[in-house]
Amino acid sequence: MTEIHRPTQGSHTGQAQKAERQAKTAFLGRIGHEFRTPLNSILGFTQLLQEEQPSSLSAGQQKKIDNIEKAGWHLLQLVNDLLDLTNVENESIEIHLAALRVVDSVNANVELVSPLAGKRDISIEVTTTTDCNELLVWADPTRLKQVILNLLTNAIKYNKHGGKVEILIEPSKADRIKITVIDTGSGIPEHEQSSIFEPFTRRSTSMHSTGSGIGLTLVLELVTLMGGKVGLTSQPGKGSSFWIELRRAEEIDRAPCRQVQEIPGVEIFPADNAEEYQLLYIEDSPSHTELVSQIIAEMEGVTVVSASTPQHGLELARALNPILILLDLCLPEMDGYTVLNCLRQHEQTRTTPVIALSANAMPEDIDEALRRGFRRFITKPINVKEFRQTVLELLADEIAAK
Ligand code: ADP
Repeated sequence: MTEIHRPTQGSHTGQAQKAERQAKTAFLGRIGHEFRTPLNSILGFTQLLQEEQPSSLSAGQQKKIDNIEKAGWHLLQLVNDLLDLTNVENESIEIHLAALRVVDSVNANVELVSPLAGKRDISIEVTTTTDCNELLVWADPTRLKQVILNLLTNAIKYNKHGGKVEILIEPSKADRIKITVIDTGSGIPEHEQSSIFEPFTRRSTSMHSTGSGIGLTLVLELVTLMGGKVGLTSQPGKGSSFWIELRRAEEIDRAPCRQVQEIPGVEIFPADNAEEYQLLYIEDSPSHTELVSQIIAEMEGVTVVSASTPQHGLELARALNPILILLDLCLPEMDGYTVLNCLRQHEQTRTTPVIALSANAMPEDIDEALRRGFRRFITKPINVKEFRQTVLELLADEIAAK
């Protein structure tokens, strides 16, 4: 069994390695950030094209658009991983530990990866050796989900068609809980087992599947930051077992274990509603404004007016009294938080719900925006379905409250 450690930073080689990695990821992180704005247009307009009813696209064109969208989401995933890696290496990532039930994080992820597993006819099984209310760990909820998602995605990607994935959750030692993701894939020879945790390292046999070689680096970094350990055992030809161990937490909650996470249903805005509701979008980028206008143009009973400067946005908010405001956080002259404060100081817009839109979508950015008074946070690139759902939910709340 191989336990994997981060490169030691005290040694000469360790320091040189760290400096080289930091320079590489800082550079890629900066470029990555710049990718998000054009990606918003690529993904947004592609989603709109695919939704056109009746479709103006032939079956062949539809397939091509499908491929563009898939590649766009993949590029976004790479950008997000790079930004995470940059933050980990700069030590600017925030970890908020809480006592969590492991089964909940695992089940949420199983649901996410089920379509991917289904496509390759791979079964997934979650096994616990103890009552799941006793399988509690100290972890950051978002980061634990990210770690499990990486391991689970790999166990599917590098598995054989019709294979099996098992997730075993068990107590290990007195104060630890172990989560092991077991697959029936090709396995990894011993001499490659630690190098795959190095950033941008992929085995030559894996090049047929998409990936960046960052996932396992993030697993190791994040689990270490949460006070845990990472390791694997593998038998070439039979499969691999990647495990993480986290500190055990005391019981916090006696709620029954849910096997499957509930996904809230979408409330459909009544189409026969005679009234038109006006939204205001404050955004300086013409391509983002165009995209949101087109998304909203296809929502019945809703219209949008846009402003490209904070000042114009504030004037329109007072003049038009929109039911909902969409506000870009990164505006010239005045940032989104200052605009929100100005809105809150005016009688007319004091209680108007405001949704933040931003490409800076680290969990801490989202938490801060919600803490400071934004009602929701929409990340760019926009997922068109989620965007509509968020707007419809807030509209329904506002209409019900009137
Ligand atoms: P990615 O999957 O994006 O390439 P990772 O850092 O998650 O990046 O993994 C690095 C490499 O380790 C992969 O490219 C693959 O070669 C190997 N690997 C990871 N998980 C497994 C697994 N469960 N079985 C076999 N090989 C794996």
